[in-house]
Amino acid sequence: MGRKFFVGGNWKCNGTLEEVKKLVGTLNAAEVPSEDVVEVVVSPPFVFLSTVKALLRSDFAVAAQNCWVRKGGAFTGEISVEMLVNLGIPWVILGHSERRLLLNEDKEFVADKVAYALSQGLNVIACVGETLEQREAGDTLNVVSEQTKAIADKVVNWSNIVIAYEPVWAIGTGKVASPAQAQEVHYELRNWLNVNVSPEVAASTRIIYGGSVNAGNCVELAAQPDLDGFLVGGASLKAEFVDIIKSAT
Ligand code: PGA
Repeated sequence: MGRKFFVGGNWKCNGTLEEVKKLVGTLNAAEVPSEDVVEVVVSPPFVFLSTVKALLRSDFAVAAQNCWVRKGGAFTGEISVEMLVNLGIPWVILGHSERRLLLNEDKEFVADKVAYALSQGLNVIACVGETLEQREAGDTLNVVSEQTKAIADKVVNWSNIVIAYEPVWAIGTGKVASPAQAQEVHYELRNWLNVNVSPEVAASTRIIYGGSVNAGNCVELAAQPDLDGFLVGGASLKAEFVDIIKSAT
């Protein structure tokens, strides 16, 4: 099947120019497995994208954390897909729960963004995940399948999508999903793709986990058969991110 391990660093709304340069220096000096083994993508805030792209080692790539839903124009404050393409930014993170919940991005809006970004040649890290209330109500699989279905309804070619399963209750809380909890959802998401998209897409699409991943828990998580990498928030701002990259299997 050959799903290459994928490690994304989501820097969120953090950092000064000096801090960002220091972090890039740390990443550039790190010894990590080769590009054949692991794909590494870091996602700085928009204002630092060009700096990071210019300074970052060539075997790591850069992602934006969001983009506008359609072609750019009179949309004050937004950043268009065309601009990202123009800057040579190859990836974008879409549907992060912080945007779904705090900025009310619903699943249709997220799916429209995914489809538009793909149509313009970007690669997409599409985030899905349930809240604690949804998990406790036994709704986890329903929620993540619905979020995935909204995307599947608008996307034909899956080769440039990575799905990030990020349970909301695990993000930034220090409450990581257990390897068994993560594997269960990853397995079910892959099964959903198998039944509703195609066996080929199910076999080849990387499903990565996010939510309080750190150097201490990454190895056990990485060993799960349906877990193909990580989307890392807090720990991606620290040297510890290098250890997470090294957990690539
Ligand atoms: P966290 O964030 O690693 O800080 O929990 C993950 C994410 O939101 O992508």
